[in-house]
Amino acid sequence: MTQKDNLAKQLKHYFGFDTFKGDQEAIINNLMKGNDMFVLMPTGGGKSLCYQLPSLLMEGTAIVVSPLIALMKNQVDVINGLGEGEGVAHFLNSSLNKAAILQVMDDVSRGVTKLLYVAPESLNKKENIEFFKTVRISFYAIDEAHCISEWGHDFRPEYRNIRHAIDEIGSAPIIALTATATDKVRTDIKRSLGIENALEYKSSFNRPNLYYEVRQKRSEKDTNAQIVQFIRKHAGKSGIIYCLSRKKVEELAEILKTNDIKAAPYHAGLDSATRSKTQDDFLMERIDVIVATIAFGMGIDKPDVRFVIHYDIPKSLEGYYQETGRAGRDGEEGICIAFYSRKDLDKLKKFMEGKPIAEQEIGRQLLQETAAYAESSVCRRKLLLHYFGEPYPKDNCGMCDNCLHPHQKREAKDALVMVLKAITAVKENFKQEYVVDFLEGKETEDILSHKHHELDDFGIGADEDEKLWNPVIRQALLAGYLRKDVENYGLLKITAAGKRFMKHPESFEVQEDIDASDDYEEDSTGAGAGALDPALYSMLRDLRKKVAQKLNLPPYVIFQDVSLEQMATMYPVNCQELQQIQGVGAGKAKRYGAEFLELIKRHCEENDIERPEELRVRTVAKGSLQKVKIIRNIDLKVALDDIAPALGLDFDELLDDIEDIVYSGTKIDIDYFLEDVMDEEHVDEIYEYFRESDTDDLETALDELGGDCTEEEIRLVRIKFLSEMAN
Ligand code: ADP
Ligand code: MG
Repeated sequence: MTQKDNLAKQLKHYFGFDTFKGDQEAIINNLMKGNDMFVLMPTGGGKSLCYQLPSLLMEGTAIVVSPLIALMKNQVDVINGLGEGEGVAHFLNSSLNKAAILQVMDDVSRGVTKLLYVAPESLNKKENIEFFKTVRISFYAIDEAHCISEWGHDFRPEYRNIRHAIDEIGSAPIIALTATATDKVRTDIKRSLGIENALEYKSSFNRPNLYYEVRQKRSEKDTNAQIVQFIRKHAGKSGIIYCLSRKKVEELAEILKTNDIKAAPYHAGLDSATRSKTQDDFLMERIDVIVATIAFGMGIDKPDVRFVIHYDIPKSLEGYYQETGRAGRDGEEGICIAFYSRKDLDKLKKFMEGKPIAEQEIGRQLLQETAAYAESSVCRRKLLLHYFGEPYPKDNCGMCDNCLHPHQKREAKDALVMVLKAITAVKENFKQEYVVDFLEGKETEDILSHKHHELDDFGIGADEDEKLWNPVIRQALLAGYLRKDVENYGLLKITAAGKRFMKHPESFEVQEDIDASDDYEEDSTGAGAGALDPALYSMLRDLRKKVAQKLNLPPYVIFQDVSLEQMATMYPVNCQELQQIQGVGAGKAKRYGAEFLELIKRHCEENDIERPEELRVRTVAKGSLQKVKIIRNIDLKVALDDIAPALGLDFDELLDDIEDIVYSGTKIDIDYFLEDVMDEEHVDEIYEYFRESDTDDLETALDELGGDCTEEEIRLVRIKFLSEMAN
């Protein structure tokens, strides 16, 4: 039997797979021959098998360095589930107690264990190193090897010491594996591990089934609304939403739940039982959407994640690529949407200010690449692949927003010549921003200190549109006229093609950048985009008065002013749209909505009004997590005087919140509590008062009702009244 047949047979025997994926076979063969290996394969490409299978076939124990404890357990379970007996795979990390560690060591010493997963910290521990010296090591596998480089997206300082530990333990072939690595990161990895001569296997990073889109983040509210609408359109499909902060994760998950979406939060602040339950629920499809910080997803093998949304701009394109890579692993639909705003970018930059200078410099450069990606109107796929050093030959990928809606191109031959001249003038020793300042003739401190303002070409581009320079430079990088020296903080260099272009300029068309607004409102209150339609507003008020008189109810009970204002801005014409209006719940829409909708519709038709596209989505009452918790507790019939201390509120503050909830259109039922604390007649008396009165003012009620009722009682019954009559 040839070696080839044999390996395929072993694959079938251990893993039940019929064929190798990609370069797996060649990688395994070469590793078994004793070569150091460097494997770059996109997420889901099948990297684990490249070390798992040979470990089972070779003599000794393979040591696998892996960054996440949760991942190790999972992989060990997989291997031990192959049926080759207990203890074939083990992990060694800080989560084990003494007895468990002894068991592991015993299995390793007896040669039972073929595959030992260790955390980098554990590998570097003195007592472990002493132990490993006594063990026959088949090879070392370094998974998620990009963690070695601070230029990657997940730097772990302990990864830096791996080579040192290996030197102590004893040499054996090393295989490094990662799903993301730019040239810079790749060099770092090889250097740090001392495997400069490793055989390299690099699969294409193109994921043809993934669709990429970047949307401008206009406001948080609007972003939430877009996300809810997107998920509704893709109901029942699995998706992941990444946010940068835990707080945002919690908030967004609540908003989704309030909109009847099966969602759960996931971040490192949750206890591990909750996290693993959430993970399970997602895999078992009891939950459709996970809202997560980046802590979620590494090693999650769910093949049919249909969308990945980035609520905030990612900190690096590497991270972005890795996270979007979790969509559509089965080769089917995978929609990747990122929300971008300059304001978020600035926030992240600010955030870095406390860090060491070198780290800041790196962080800023990584961020800049992400910003360039987001603002460019060039094919997203081309930009991403270029970032990973892979050319993309087609002009239009047909699977990103920029290719589906191509932007106008403009001739930039002369501009590129100017850029090349400027870079030459500063001796190819400066970064993009500096070159742009030079082109525009800005006498910055930096330029003055280099005396570059004295050069002939200083300010050669001053007459051009300043928005032109960044796209020209970036697209010249893509086209290969320029090169960024990543080793040296991204200095711009001219390539041979660039030099030829200077001598013989030819047509060079560029797409202008997308106009990213500098700012968005943190929380746009009130009506949003459009302007109030005064004619409609006054008609709506008249109608409200009429209805109120007919029903013998005060007008505010029908709809509050703010609701009418929004109606006169958003022009809702059906019941569902009406419910997107602030202060209008399902009950209210049904009870009072019809006449109002009729009026709005007629008004729109008669005046040829174009309604705003954007439909409002129901937000959590005034957007606060606290209120959602209150509603939940009331639904569970928890006594109000128990809810208050549990949420750290005074009883008064709790009533304030409940009033807000009710006034903004949500119906709640506190009868269970009233029955406990007030007698029925009392409740009826106050209830009747509000029915008759033309104001809901508390002071007036106190006066009118005289000394029988306390303020609290009045407020409680008013809540009941508003909830029943108004909502
Ligand atoms: P990576 O670590 O590269 O992201 P994994 O090692 O987790 O990817 O593998 C991804 C999926 O591909 C796993 O479900 C794995 O079982 C499967 N897989 C790996 N190799 C093969 C193969 N030769 N044939 C079929 N499936 C494979
Ligand atoms: Mg992996």
